[in-house]
Amino acid sequence: MNDHPRDACGVIGLYNVPEAAPVAALGLHALQHRGQESAGIATSHAGRLHVYKGMGLVSSVFAGDAARRLPGSAAVGHVRYSTAGESSAANAQPLTGRYAGGEAAVAHNGNLADSQRLCNALCSGGALFQTTTDSEIFLHLLAHELAVNDKEIGRILALAGPAFAVILLFPDRLIAARDPLGYRPLVLGHLGDGLVVASETCAFDQIGAVFEREVEPGEMVIFDENGRHSLFFAENTPTPARCLLELIYFARPDSLVFGETPHLFRRRSGIKLAQEHPADADVVVPIPDSGMSAAMGYADGLNLPFERGLIRNHYVGRSFISPGQEARAAAVRMKNNVVRAVVRGKRVVLVDDSLIRGTTTSALGRELRSAGAREVHLRIACPPTRHPCIYGVDFPRREDLLAHRLDLEAIRTLLNMDSLGYLSLEGLTGLFGNDADTFCTSCWSGEYRAAPGRSDRLKAEFIPIPL
Ligand code: SF4
Repeated sequence: MNDHPRDACGVIGLYNVPEAAPVAALGLHALQHRGQESAGIATSHAGRLHVYKGMGLVSSVFAGDAARRLPGSAAVGHVRYSTAGESSAANAQPLTGRYAGGEAAVAHNGNLADSQRLCNALCSGGALFQTTTDSEIFLHLLAHELAVNDKEIGRILALAGPAFAVILLFPDRLIAARDPLGYRPLVLGHLGDGLVVASETCAFDQIGAVFEREVEPGEMVIFDENGRHSLFFAENTPTPARCLLELIYFARPDSLVFGETPHLFRRRSGIKLAQEHPADADVVVPIPDSGMSAAMGYADGLNLPFERGLIRNHYVGRSFISPGQEARAAAVRMKNNVVRAVVRGKRVVLVDDSLIRGTTTSALGRELRSAGAREVHLRIACPPTRHPCIYGVDFPRREDLLAHRLDLEAIRTLLNMDSLGYLSLEGLTGLFGNDADTFCTSCWSGEYRAAPGRSDRLKAEFIPIPL
């Protein structure tokens, strides 16, 4: 039912923070928008790892004193939305294992683009996978490559290929890393004398940590008894391919991501959209909550009134939403209600940040008209989404992407809009000036930058065990 792609997890790591697990749980609350299927925390204490995880929201998994029962001053936490592998308790993270280097826990945001080949290569060497998530590959790479010291761990990160922001916890240290193209975000800061990493700065705000900088693409930051140090594990430093959809949709508006505040970026994109596709209209209405910031910018750009013409009910869970045309229409009404006095007799510009399947948008257009809107013009603050993502964002199949199947006029007709305008790719990337080519735009352009093929570099020789 959701008309947006979904993200693939949020991660947080703490080192040298007293009672780290409850603090990690607090941080995970702030990252809940990145994944609602499962939540988990692993800690290290007295040379051992401890883990607790379960299906559901952070508030239900860590109800009561579940987090307090995890001892230790180092922790890694995870919230999951499944993109690779089904939604199941077995796939909940952090994943843990024991290998030549001792115990290890992994929390991963992203999808390993080369996961199938890596998995096949590892299985042919005898690996026994316990889950269906590609995140488990990190544990197998550690074991397979006998990666114990920091340099060896850097080598397995180079083998994994994009896309990842990953946190590895060992009994004696914590390692946070981003793939060399930096698809997914990861920020670094401190909390008192302790160190913190997280997918977004909103987690820092929640726990009172101070933001210092991003973990760089291709960087692994190691926290251990000697403090903090960095290694760059990539063979070369390619131009980054930071996920632009993080700024357009995923990241919380109040976070700092890739050096931008998403709310302000979205507002700028709305102004640009107004320049490219002005509408002769009376009022600008956002699709809540996703279109809010872009609609403000669009209204600013044309000096039009911005109004909340749709009100979202935040208490309707996804469980209420079932397939079928009538059920979908009812679900849209349950989730969003029209403010009649705002739209009656008006020419309305409806603004959203993206348009994927179009089902919700089309239903909202109908609701606005039946509430008395004279015209409904749709404006989308990103280009037509025609291609799926292979870097950790859950997209519908290519055939289900509205802009893949239909041209603009056909989309306008299908959605029953008086006019339709998308922000152009040039307009979108132009908002970054000289940094434009440091962002991934594959889901709009169809050009995929990262085509890693590193499974061939796994150690080829296995030591035969005499029978
Ligand atoms: S393809 Fe789209 S969603 Fe995927 S990483 Fe690139 S910009 Fe982000």
